[in-house]
Amino acid sequence: MSTAIVTHKDCILHDTGMNHPESKERLIAINKTLKEFKSKKIEWFEGEKIEPKYFFTVHSKNYFKDIKNKSPKKDLFRIDADTILSKYSLEAALKATGSVCKAVDIIFEGKFKNAFCPIRPPGHHAEPERAMGFCFFNNVAVAANYAKLNYKVKKCAVIDFDVHHGNGTQKMFWNNSDMFYASTHQEGIFPGTGFKEETGINNNIVNVPLPAGTDSLLFKKSYEDIIFPKLEKFSPDIIFVSAGFDAHISDPLADFKLIKDDFYWITKKLNDFATKNCKGKLISCLEGGYNIKALSESCLEHVKGLIL
Ligand SMILES: [Zn+2]
Repeated sequence: MSTAIVTHKDCILHDTGMNHPESKERLIAINKTLKEFKSKKIEWFEGEKIEPKYFFTVHSKNYFKDIKNKSPKKDLFRIDADTILSKYSLEAALKATGSVCKAVDIIFEGKFKNAFCPIRPPGHHAEPERAMGFCFFNNVAVAANYAKLNYKVKKCAVIDFDVHHGNGTQKMFWNNSDMFYASTHQEGIFPGTGFKEETGINNNIVNVPLPAGTDSLLFKKSYEDIIFPKLEKFSPDIIFVSAGFDAHISDPLADFKLIKDDFYWITKKLNDFATKNCKGKLISCLEGGYNIKALSESCLEHVKGLIL
């Protein structure tokens, strides 16, 4: 066995209302495509609800209470124009984060080298005390701290190839030189952060903003010339991936020109790096991707890149 897929059925209960790009249909399509793939090298697991204490490694207690208080008993509560709470959103968010932490447990049990967590709501825009950009809890940052607290992990790296900058993850890692965050993203779009001058306390943050129209060649060059050399220097014990697929040419929210094969390429490169440097340990979690066909096809390429 090489790859665990960890998700929770309640992730589809998070309701964002009519015509919202971050819909349950995303996850339904991904799960269908991955189940039809029928590889003997993958095994499915259901995540567990995370204990709130793990949130407090990156989010404040007041923030958690605030989300709980704002959760509506019926209808929707708009935190902002994009970020919407429904009756079951908190439950879905707790199980989304819990799924990534369960993936950490599975990886450290040793039967699987890596994992992909198709979950929602996504997490990389969630800041310590602010929900934004469809995100409530920073799944990847909580899971990195969970790995540090429960296993012998000192240094964690998060690689974020979502087309948007992961402002939340960057903020949570900024002052912690045991954490590394690297992102390629489209410059000048939401959330407006991720300039190359933003480098963290110890050059532990690496931002590669790229122009609209970025294609496979420029995307690959950014990883080969900038991100991988810095990742190698950081020398992580484990790699987390913020896997957004909205850099695809068909995505409605951004203007990159990647194709599904590029998601195989970056995943295989990260997997090879993890095999060589981190005993294979790599955990990927879903962030964006809003053209449902492109998203599910790209996720399949991503999983193919994880299989050893
Ligand atoms: Zn995105």
